[in-house]
Amino acid sequence: MTTPCIICVAITGSLPRKENNPAVPITISEQIESTHEAFEAGASIVHAHVRNDDETPSSDFEKFAALKKGIEKHCPGMILQFSTGGRSGAGETRGGMLPLRPDMASLSVGSNNFPTRVYENPPDLVDWLASEMLTYNIKPEIEAFDLSHILKAKDMADKGQLVGTPYIQFVMGVKNAMPVDRDVFDYYIHTVKRLFGEDAPWCAAGIGSNQLTLNEWAIAAGGHARTGLEDNVRLDRDRLAPSNAALVRRTVDICEQNNRSVATWQEARRILGLRMPETSTKGQAA
Ligand SMILES: [Zn+2]
Repeated sequence: MTTPCIICVAITGSLPRKENNPAVPITISEQIESTHEAFEAGASIVHAHVRNDDETPSSDFEKFAALKKGIEKHCPGMILQFSTGGRSGAGETRGGMLPLRPDMASLSVGSNNFPTRVYENPPDLVDWLASEMLTYNIKPEIEAFDLSHILKAKDMADKGQLVGTPYIQFVMGVKNAMPVDRDVFDYYIHTVKRLFGEDAPWCAAGIGSNQLTLNEWAIAAGGHARTGLEDNVRLDRDRLAPSNAALVRRTVDICEQNNRSVATWQEARRILGLRMPETSTKGQAA
């Protein structure tokens, strides 16, 4: 029996704007609605950034708080993952929302080039973000833009800096970083299994038109998949994606083609070793 596939939907990101695709959710209410639709389509993780009203990236604590509240209300059980990525702020502002205790947060553990700049993740900031995640019992998703980031995650896990077995996401197809390369992809999988065990979960994200390729590769190879408008605003060359949910449905179709079931939020939490949500505990107590 194969492991169910966890689908993560990256709803907004910090780059795409309405002018690129009007379906990119910007306001908190748009984000909640888009997440709800993606949740119903089969996503069990939402990866979220927040934006200012002018669509620029934001690190506003209140916006993250409002988004968390809305997602818990409208998508009960869904795994909430906040981004601590570098475009939303500098230095420790990137982790300013972690006291809200989302289930997960993204964590980049090394630096690399991005299309027009250096994506800076200095060691002291990485250590600080990891320690905040430990304090608030947040499971990091390690963003592997490079092979060295997987080995760095192993080093951090050995030192007790991370909650649980690291969940590694391979990111491929960012211009000037790791391209979409099948041999590298296979070696990433080999490395994750060697360092964290045969059954260690991993996922993959491809940027732009590479999203589809990475979804196909990851699902066929037993990994988990990320989709969403953050990484890609198109359904194919000629059509914009009408919604995050449409991209989730495309990923569900790939699961079906590969005889993988789509993980429910309960299965996803079990696979990732996450706590069950407080709401269900409250429900039992009431
Ligand atoms: Zn992101």
